[in-house]
Parts: sequence; structure tokens; C-alpha cells
Amino acid sequence: MGALQLQNIRKTFGAHEVLKGIDLDVKDGEFVIFVGPSGCGKSTLLRVIAGLEDASTGSIRIDGDEVATVPPAKRGIAMVFQSYALYPHLTVKDNMGLGLKQAGTEKAEIERRVAKASAMLSLEPYLARRPSELSGGQRQRVAIGRAIVREPKLFLFDEPLSNLDAALRVQTRLEIAKLHRELKATMIYVTHDQVEAMTLADKIVVLSAGAIEQVGSPMELYNRPANLFVAGFIGSPQ
Ligand code: ADP
Ligand code: MG
Repeated sequence: MGALQLQNIRKTFGAHEVLKGIDLDVKDGEFVIFVGPSGCGKSTLLRVIAGLEDASTGSIRIDGDEVATVPPAKRGIAMVFQSYALYPHLTVKDNMGLGLKQAGTEKAEIERRVAKASAMLSLEPYLARRPSELSGGQRQRVAIGRAIVREPKLFLFDEPLSNLDAALRVQTRLEIAKLHRELKATMIYVTHDQVEAMTLADKIVVLSAGAIEQVGSPMELYNRPANLFVAGFIGSPQ
């Protein structure tokens, strides 16, 4: 399970209100895309959901349980960053397994999960390498693998493909779509790329200046944008 419910999430940095009361329901297994201009609060919202940042107010429920005060490692959430955030001194295998090791998971279980994730991501030939010996696309797959081995209820992706070239972006996008089908996990994904948003999403959330402008399926937003801002962002002709 991995249903998420946000109620009145607000976040203030000093005098700057970055999130202005976010209400959102994400169903178990849904693929939800956040889009919106740079600086509108997408990354902050992901970080608040993950527990990397505390909300100033509001409620975060996962499968009905309030998690706003639960530490990040206990929320059943894994986040994939644009910058990969791998440990340079560890092999691919150890990068993928480190979180489990720190959580006290048995060695055999770590081996099993790393083997399964590396098969899903075609990473088997690279398990003994270090991140500096990998391409950008391979590094991002390791970061995704590291999320998968934790078997989270909810995956958060923050612009995971923006450092990749166009061909790799398409390939990795298709891999993420396949993972979503295979894992049946809930995924929330931030992107600037309209094609990514339209092809991956069950539901798109359009954000502007810390507030939600509209939530809907790609076709709903395309055919019935609530306002000019949404129309401009989704690229419909209005
Ligand atoms: P996005 O991911 O949509 O580009 P962010 O969530 O990164 O936007 O940032 C939203 C706003 O919050 C920006 O104005 C940014 O400068 C501000 N912000 C983000 N993190 C911090 C922080 N730790 N301290 C102060 N301001 C921050
Ligand atoms: Mg961001």
C-alpha cells in the first residue's frame, strides 16, 4: 500500500511562504507528476513528504497514518535525486545495499534485493564498479536501484532525468514506466519535461508559487485547463 494524503501543508523559510496550503490525495499505485516553474516549491514539497524538511503546519498521512513527526527512514519512502547522490568510494553493489545495511537488514536479504533490483535495471555487469566508472545514465539507474531495494511504499523522484542527454532520457523514462508497472508502487515525480509528464502520469499536479493550480489526468488538463497558466504549462492551444 502507498496512499498519500496531504492536508494544508505550509512551509515558511524566514518570511517567505514557499508552500501555501497544499491539499492532495494520491491513491495507492498512482503515478503523479508535479510540474510548475522553477522556484514554485516542487522540491520543497517532495522534501517535506520525505521528512527531509519539516512542514511548518499540516498533516501528511500514508495509508491513513500521520507521519509528519515520523523520521525519514521510517516513512516507507525512497527519494531519487537529480544529482544521484551516490557515495564515490563505494561500489555499485554497496551503494545499493548501504541503506539496508544501516537499517540492520540481514546480509542474505540485502544480497537478494540488490540482485533483484540490478536485474530489473540491467546493472549486473557494473556491480563491482565505483560511480566514477559509470555513465550518467548508469549512475541514475544505481540511484533508482538504491530506492527499489528499500521496497518503499512511495517513490519520490526529483527531476531524475534532467542531467541525461535526450536519448538516455527517453530510455530511462521507459524504464521508470516499466518499474511502475512491475512494482505497482506509488510514484511522485517532478519534471520540467512536458513529454515526461504527459506519458508517465496518471495524474498531473500543476503548481505555481507554492499553491496548486489544477489537478487532473493529462487529458483533462490538456482539454480543460482551469486557466491560462495551466494551458501554457501543459501546452494546449488555448
Ligand atoms: P522548485 O523545486 O519548484 O524549483 P524549490 O522547492 O527548490 O522550488 O524552492 C522553492 C522556493 O523556496 C525558492 O524560492 C527557494 O529559494 C526557496 N527555498 C528552498 N529551500 C530553501 C531553504 N532551505 N532556505 C530558504 N529558502 C529555500
Ligand atoms: Mg526543484
